[in-house]
Amino acid sequence: MIAIFSCTCKWFDEIAKRVLWKEFCHARAPKMMQDLHSSGSHIVDGNWKALGKLLIYCSGCTKGGLFGNTHLPGHFVYRTRFSRTVGKCLLPPQCRTDVLYVSDSCEHLDLGAEGDVGLFRGIIKSFSVSNIKRLLIEKQVKFHPEELCPYCKAKLWNLKQPKMIRRSASVRLDAYDDSVEYYVCLNGHILGLCALMPISDSEDTKEE
Ligand SMILES: [Zn+2]
Ligand SMILES: [Zn+2]
Ligand SMILES: [Zn+2]
Repeated sequence: MIAIFSCTCKWFDEIAKRVLWKEFCHARAPKMMQDLHSSGSHIVDGNWKALGKLLIYCSGCTKGGLFGNTHLPGHFVYRTRFSRTVGKCLLPPQCRTDVLYVSDSCEHLDLGAEGDVGLFRGIIKSFSVSNIKRLLIEKQVKFHPEELCPYCKAKLWNLKQPKMIRRSASVRLDAYDDSVEYYVCLNGHILGLCALMPISDSEDTKEE
């Protein structure tokens, strides 16, 4: 009965899903959603699903994809904090007034030769009118030739090529210098990787 009802109208289905994803996002990260909505910014309806996925899913990466030879399986992450403060450190100096929410590093440990790797993901508020988007266009940064955003399937800019990632990013993420790399998609989702310092070392520095 429900199946018949839900198939009578694709349109209704779509609306229902959007409402559900929107509610999901608000329940999951109320403060962040409120901020993403403030000062004239808004999230396009169709992007709630992408945002919902971003909140709970670490997309991993495939060999020969976004991050060279690193291959990491994607997986659900049930608890992730997203931080504006950490986001600030990831933005280029000219873009400090932009707002970027970035997740804790999702730690993929003991990968042999590659050591410990952290994956992070996030979203830039009002990306379409952000400084960072303007800068990427000014610098004529190229899109990745094949890979698409795992959350919304849009094209991705690599911020490592134009050297737009500051050293403070690696300090903030407990990562090795210059190991931080990230991409921004056309909808403002970010996707990044860094080589994490050994756990004992980073704990020492935190206690200082
Ligand atoms: Zn239907
Ligand atoms: Zn992960
Ligand atoms: Zn995206």
